[in-house]
Amino acid sequence: MDLNLKDKVIIVTGGAKGIGEAITRGIAEEGGIPVIVGRSKDEGEKLTDELVDSGKEVLNLCYELSSTENCEAAVSSVMSTYGRIDGLINNAGVNDGVGLEKGNPVQFKRSVETNLFHYYDMAHYCIPELKKSKGNIVNISSKTAITGQGNTSGYAAAKGAQLALTREWAVELLNYNIRVNAIVPAEVMTPLYKKWLDTFDNPNEKQKEIEKNVPFGNRMTTAKEIADTALFLLSERSSHITGQHIVVDGGYVHLDRSLSVLGD
Ligand code: NAP
Repeated sequence: MDLNLKDKVIIVTGGAKGIGEAITRGIAEEGGIPVIVGRSKDEGEKLTDELVDSGKEVLNLCYELSSTENCEAAVSSVMSTYGRIDGLINNAGVNDGVGLEKGNPVQFKRSVETNLFHYYDMAHYCIPELKKSKGNIVNISSKTAITGQGNTSGYAAAKGAQLALTREWAVELLNYNIRVNAIVPAEVMTPLYKKWLDTFDNPNEKQKEIEKNVPFGNRMTTAKEIADTALFLLSERSSHITGQHIVVDGGYVHLDRSLSVLGD
């Protein structure tokens, strides 16, 4: 299926690692031009070199996104280089474990700020160009917005707000033919996820326990499976889908998790 993403300029925040990296690779494979915007300098350069060596076009912009000025500068850089923006994947985020009891108000505010504000800032600065290209926005949220996780109030609040903003922006941008959707992953092995897993005494056992609870296939979702959904949402193949929260998780959030136990 041709997704018609050829030569489309698509910004992927946090596009050098994990889910973002898979989306960057997917856009490049479809002949589009991914623009990585994130702070992972070495990983961004390595990925860019690899893609360029294989004949793909990609732009790597190293920015810390928690600064509004940086978000504005990143969008300006894309415009100076390509003169157009066809899509925005808001993806960068960190599950930073600021709890209700074990966190404090300063950490909570900081966590919401670093996980949420750049989703708005990037979308805000991209809008004039997305209006011209009738492009679209995909927000990567998290199952924590729906199920909770415990000990991560700031991250969960930011992820919930991203789902609300997906609906809010889908409505506001209807008249410009800009679609806005969210993907809700649950358990995807990425550098971020591995870091979290390593906080447990026995990460391998913990991983097996989690996988057992994923109804479809008793396995984690791959970053590529999230990326494939993002590519579909970016493409005109999803031309009548807007304001949706697409849960890509092997049924983890919505199916009966005790099914895996029953199947034993
Ligand atoms: P990852 O492996 O850590 O990759 C995220 C990338 O974004 C990293 O390069 C990270 O840099 C960068 N980044 C984060 N915050 C940034 C900021 N403020 N400014 C610039 N760059 C920033 O994470 P991932 O697991 O792929 O997660 C991607 C998205 O999926 C996140 O929004 C996350 O909430 C969501 N998600 C993931 C899972 C999962 O199971 N993995 C589940 C649900 C939702 P650093 O490495 O320096 O932080």
